[in-house]
Amino acid sequence: MNRLPHETLPPTSLLASRRQAQQRHRILIVGGGAGGLELAARLGRTAGHRGEAEIVLVDAAATHLWKPLLHEIAAGTRYRQQHELDYRQQARLHGFRFHQGRLQSVERGPHRIWLAALCDDEGMEIAPRRSVAYDTLVLAVGGTDNDFGTPGARRHALSLNTPDDAEHFHRRLMALCARADLGTGRPVQVAIVGGGATGVELAAELCTAAPDIAAYGLRLQKLAQPLQLTLVEAGPRLLAALPEAVAERARRDLEQRGVTLRLGQQVAEVHRDALLLRDGSRIDADLVVWAAGVQGAEVLAQTDGLDLTPQRQLKVGPTLQTLRDEDVFALGDCASCRPDPDAPPVPPKAQAAHQQAALLAESLQRRLRGEPLPDFHYRERGNLVTLGRDRAVGALNAGGGSTIFGGAAARFGYWLLHRRHLAVLLGPLRTAALTLGECLSRRARPRVKLH
Ligand SMILES: Cc1cc2nc3c(=O)[nH]c(=O)nc-3n(C[C@H](O)[C@H](O)[C@H](O)COP(=O)(O)OP(=O)(O)OC[C@H]3O[C@@H](n4cnc5c(N)ncnc54)[C@H](O)[C@@H]3O)c2cc1C
Repeated sequence: MNRLPHETLPPTSLLASRRQAQQRHRILIVGGGAGGLELAARLGRTAGHRGEAEIVLVDAAATHLWKPLLHEIAAGTRYRQQHELDYRQQARLHGFRFHQGRLQSVERGPHRIWLAALCDDEGMEIAPRRSVAYDTLVLAVGGTDNDFGTPGARRHALSLNTPDDAEHFHRRLMALCARADLGTGRPVQVAIVGGGATGVELAAELCTAAPDIAAYGLRLQKLAQPLQLTLVEAGPRLLAALPEAVAERARRDLEQRGVTLRLGQQVAEVHRDALLLRDGSRIDADLVVWAAGVQGAEVLAQTDGLDLTPQRQLKVGPTLQTLRDEDVFALGDCASCRPDPDAPPVPPKAQAAHQQAALLAESLQRRLRGEPLPDFHYRERGNLVTLGRDRAVGALNAGGGSTIFGGAAARFGYWLLHRRHLAVLLGPLRTAALTLGECLSRRARPRVKLH
């Protein structure tokens, strides 16, 4: 008899063959990021705990890292391991099941997804390509940058989409600093493409890290600027999605710290050692990072005919159900949601993913009871952009107006956003213990990660 691959593995077949053993309604969440993991935790504690549904979370990785920390991991001002949460610990804490695997495709007819074979770092197969069945599917696989097909971008530019990308960037940066220290003696040139929040935050964080990196190197210490940073933005100003006053403060801050801004300039080609701009000029670069554009994850093209926007995001209605299939929901950066046709779409931000996860945790329980689902309404509470270790700038929406603020108060606001995320996942006591641990270990470690 020909057996399907998933029938050969007991843990997987448990997930794949539930139809025979008809059990509880299964809510399958794919993507344990800012939105997906919060949703799994909230549902695990409620519907999962009461036995009303089986909650299963699938993620390609074994650990979760809050994505807005990636520029700090890349610059080395934060240590990745200290901020990673283990999905299996989360599953145990909240009462959901975790299954590691990379989504390859969705088959809506038989209500199942397919996961790629799971291999370890040495290439040894841990689990074969396999399927997981669902009753309700929530796609929360996030997004990536968009290089708009720019020649050389894929080959030569680094990205900042995942913790591995951030770590890779940091390793390259440290290797280039070591080369400068031991040999060339000239500053390391870094070119950042994209003047949105990711590009601006990375540039500012690198300005913060540079003196600390130099403090550990002999030759670099003698340079006025051990890192030479250039930021290229196609639009006329930085932070196009944020109020102009916030963008202006960020521009002033970066320029004062020596970052060269090339606004209104489009990148024509990326080379191994330079960027070529449309106006014919060239920017020499030891390291190029692409931080422009947002689009849905590539796998969203394999969702069995679900409607996508040109940016490859799944189109969802006000209840966050996809337009063609009421059993498939989407949230966060991989969803395009426009609850009010006259308003702009919900922005791809952690704040939006958090609000959508909170709504879905409620509405998926209602769905189990056969009740109508509430609509999503996005509340824009403001925007914060970090500008290094102890500063940030932001606009806070309160009382019908928007207040621009900066400095340590804004940095504290940003820090609170992360703590709120942790509090959903760990509860107040564990979050406090983790915070204390971070403060203590900061005193024992170098201010910047040196390897
Ligand atoms: C450097 C940086 C700074 C940012 N700063 C801010 C900020 O200050 N404020 C703010 O609101 N937002 C910020 N953002 C944006 C914010 O991080 C995202 O909007 C948010 O993380 C989106 O949440 P999500 O749950 O949709 O996706 P993500 O958090 O990206 O999570 C997606 C998850 O899906 C998993 N996954 C992906 N593909 C697959 C697959 N094929 N199979 C299985 N699993 C998969 C990934 O491993 C990941 O765990 C920042 C982003 C970056 C990169």
